[in-house]
Amino acid sequence: MVELSARVKTMTSSPTLKLVQIKKQLEAQGKVILDFGAGEPDFPTPENIKNAGVEAIRGNFTKYTPTSGIAELKKAIRATYLAEQGIDAKDAQIVVSPGSKYGLFILLQAVVNPGDEVIVPLPYWVSYPEMVKFCGGSVVFADHLQPERRFQLTAASYISRCSPRTKAVIVNSPSNPTGKIMAGAELAELIAFCHPQGILVIVDDCYRKIMYTDEPYPSPLALVPEAGEQVAVVSSLSKTYAMTGWRLGYSITCEPLAAAMTKIQEHSTSNPCSISQKAAVEALAGDQGAVCAMVAEYRRRRDYFARRVDGIGNISYALPDGAFYFFADFSHYIGEKGFQDDNQLAMDILEKLNIILVPGSAFGAPGHLRISYATSMQDIREGLDKLEAYLKP
Ligand code: PMP
Ligand code: GLU
Repeated sequence: MVELSARVKTMTSSPTLKLVQIKKQLEAQGKVILDFGAGEPDFPTPENIKNAGVEAIRGNFTKYTPTSGIAELKKAIRATYLAEQGIDAKDAQIVVSPGSKYGLFILLQAVVNPGDEVIVPLPYWVSYPEMVKFCGGSVVFADHLQPERRFQLTAASYISRCSPRTKAVIVNSPSNPTGKIMAGAELAELIAFCHPQGILVIVDDCYRKIMYTDEPYPSPLALVPEAGEQVAVVSSLSKTYAMTGWRLGYSITCEPLAAAMTKIQEHSTSNPCSISQKAAVEALAGDQGAVCAMVAEYRRRRDYFARRVDGIGNISYALPDGAFYFFADFSHYIGEKGFQDDNQLAMDILEKLNIILVPGSAFGAPGHLRISYATSMQDIREGLDKLEAYLKP
């Protein structure tokens, strides 16, 4: 057997993507699965976006493009941030990548040296710690689990963990897995603190269009004008436009960082898919009606979830303000059923009810379960009926 590199040997596989495979295997065995696992919109990609992809193929737009993305798409990204956040970015600040996951990966590769610390929110999206470790960096957690301020994303939670070795902090707002949003004032405080120390603030805003509050999304790149170069935004079309399979994400950073990321992309994947880029132009510049309809439906599901979970009782949670995840504390039922942890509870629910949930341990929060409501209302009703009968027999 070939000797694997030390850095890949310590890497764990993605628990969320593993559940996608488990679901497929169980369905191949003829089982009907209720899937509240991986966060993937149940909606199809909107028609206008699909049509733009088909047109790209028919028009033979099927060759290499500039590595960091086509000018037409960068223009659409610039127009989006100008309209939403008053940000006037330059093309040279934008790198379009095959998914925001890869965008974040090359960003971290471009800035993190072995021994550097990167502060990651706890609970965290599963890939952040693994990516930091893959760069040789050390993961430090900004703890948002304190019961009295459950899941609130505060500047203090990050600032208290900063040290002379801190290279970057990652903010994910709205958060996967909690759905919480970092208020503009908190984000501004964090950026103002990090800027003079040369700490990069990375904002993963891939759920920013899926919000249930009336507050506008704060503009990370403009909150502290003199800190612009020390802030990087990473974003995605996967969730907003139900385009997970098209693999399209992008970042806005200072120009030298964008150039460095482009070099890494050039030698690893080359350009993101040409067809997906054309579809993304339509997604960003075309009619946004489908997005409004999807967000309204997610909100309806969130409210239904909250009512039902309250009805079951003994499950504490903080109502999500965005994204499409319910992150709830199931410790009471773990104890009552005699399980050791959330992994055992999730496994028992899968075996007995054919329902996929993600154990909170995958996000660094034992005792919790993450329930994605990016799944049909019919499945949500059926799943919650079964869950209620199982938890309160
Ligand atoms: N960031 C967060 C917080 C996520 O939940 C995900 C998973 N969809 C990603 C980034 C990556 O998304 P994609 O690569 O599909 O753009
Ligand atoms: N981000 C989604 C999730 O948390 C999709 C799977 C993944 O990329 O991790 O479920």
